[in-house]
Amino acid sequence: MLKGIGVSDGIGIGKVIKYIGAPVVYADTVITDTATERNRFRKAVGQFVQRNEEWAGRVDTSGADGKILRSHIAVLNDPWVLSQINMEIDGGRCAERAVEMVFAHLIARLSSVEDKHMRQRAEDIADIKRQILQNLLGREDFDLKDLPSDTVLILEALTPAIMAEIDVRNIAAIVAEKGGMASHSAIISRALKIPTVLNVANALKEIDAGTKIIVDGGTGEIYTSFDNNLKHKFFRTREIRARKEAMAEMFKEKKTVTADGIKKELLANIGLPKEVAAAVAGDAEGIGLFRTEFLFINRDILPAEEEQFEAYKAVAAGMKDKRVIIRTLDVGGDKNIPCLKLKKEENPLLGFRAIRYCLEDRELYRTQLRALLRASAYGNVAIMIPMITRVDEILKVRAMIQETKKELDEKHVPYKKDIEVGIMIETPAACLTADLLAEHVDFFSIGTNDLTGYILAADRGNADVNFLYSIFDPAVIRGIKYIIACAKKRGISCGMCGEAAADVRLIPLLVAFGLDVFSVDPSNILSVRAGLSKLNQSKCNAIAKAVLEKKTEQDIRIYLTSKAKHIFQFDHEET
Ligand code: PEP
Ligand code: MG
Repeated sequence: MLKGIGVSDGIGIGKVIKYIGAPVVYADTVITDTATERNRFRKAVGQFVQRNEEWAGRVDTSGADGKILRSHIAVLNDPWVLSQINMEIDGGRCAERAVEMVFAHLIARLSSVEDKHMRQRAEDIADIKRQILQNLLGREDFDLKDLPSDTVLILEALTPAIMAEIDVRNIAAIVAEKGGMASHSAIISRALKIPTVLNVANALKEIDAGTKIIVDGGTGEIYTSFDNNLKHKFFRTREIRARKEAMAEMFKEKKTVTADGIKKELLANIGLPKEVAAAVAGDAEGIGLFRTEFLFINRDILPAEEEQFEAYKAVAAGMKDKRVIIRTLDVGGDKNIPCLKLKKEENPLLGFRAIRYCLEDRELYRTQLRALLRASAYGNVAIMIPMITRVDEILKVRAMIQETKKELDEKHVPYKKDIEVGIMIETPAACLTADLLAEHVDFFSIGTNDLTGYILAADRGNADVNFLYSIFDPAVIRGIKYIIACAKKRGISCGMCGEAAADVRLIPLLVAFGLDVFSVDPSNILSVRAGLSKLNQSKCNAIAKAVLEKKTEQDIRIYLTSKAKHIFQFDHEET
């Protein structure tokens, strides 16, 4: 048995496929034997054509149309493309460099055109380039979108880009050698309900491709060999968990209210417009966090204003008149957006990220704000700014929003005139100056994923410091209490959209502190509603009082876990 950190609950049983997607690296040397280099290129093209023809055939037999794949093949039959690449090779460039140069030229030409189809084409070309480079480097390149059903995917590190690419229907479970509970990939795997275990040392070496394994995303256990007894035990665990979900179903279409009638707002976190369906199905009362950065990853060119507008509009309209809080681009940290070509930093979590970056790349930010404001005409949209550390950042964004509104007014473009502007409280500076920040915004949303990491100086994705990274640490609890108190004093709403908002053990504390809004993964909406229904203010106040008297993370965690077990008949493995 192997063990890692179970980050997304559920049991997955399936066959192992290993994904080794290392970056494209090659020695960019001057070539003298150009004939050999031309041959390497020809062979790489041959492999590409053969594979794409196979895929096109498979697509055709499924009743769809393989036209797109055939048009990819046509790109490599284009005499101009071939002659340019061969010319670069004859000029002494290695095949990899020649391919990169010619394709970069094509991509730049297509992406400079403000036309959706052309931009899509540019993305296709980028994918063709990637495949050819993989072939040249002799790497197996399989299509993540097209894995066999019941695949257990094993990889070194799970990235949001990989998560965006896979077809969840085919994935039984995911195992990665790196990563921690609060990494973005963990958040997405929970949202997509894929049993996932991260931080499994040597998983790629220890687990053989093609074997059938069991992955428990709750306990973090991986069984590479098992008998029928064990298999049945897992089937039973699966059933118990399904029964628990069914119990929460009783809270569907119910009000979100405590036992003594205090109303709370219960919203969903999403990363892609298509997750609106899960939010609606999960009975969310709105969207509390739309992470827009997922529109920007996995592509070679930035999404244009129109594409962003369509995405934001789809979410706003999809939620009807319910509140939709859209967070502006939160790039950086563990969310790399390759097409922004950001400098490599020594310390990306403390670096040029989120609002710091956006206030410098004003054109990019203005485009996003324009798309957001335009979409606000189609629903109840609010804007949220990530990673705020100082008041002047809010003032600068507000000024940009004002300018953008003026521009839209001049063109008679509709938008929500009184659109709310709120901020994430996720840095220690924002926490300690929450009273000052509150004067300038309509709402707070506490980002506990980052706030916990920053307060405790423990990288949220680094398993080696995972023992420190805990929402139950007295430092974090005090921070949360202070933030909510500042919002209350100023009379603005305070929400929480970090993962902690879905941890039922914390609910009594958050109710006692006066949190107004819980924004959680769609699959957790009903369990949070069920939890709230069992509490009243005086019970919560008593629990909070006891917590605030405790001095260690462990004492607080054990106390809240035992309270949760008692109040919610909730069974949490980890104490
Ligand atoms: C957070 O930091 O808690 C948060 C919600 O934002 P993200 O996880 O996207 O950084
Ligand atoms: Mg954050």
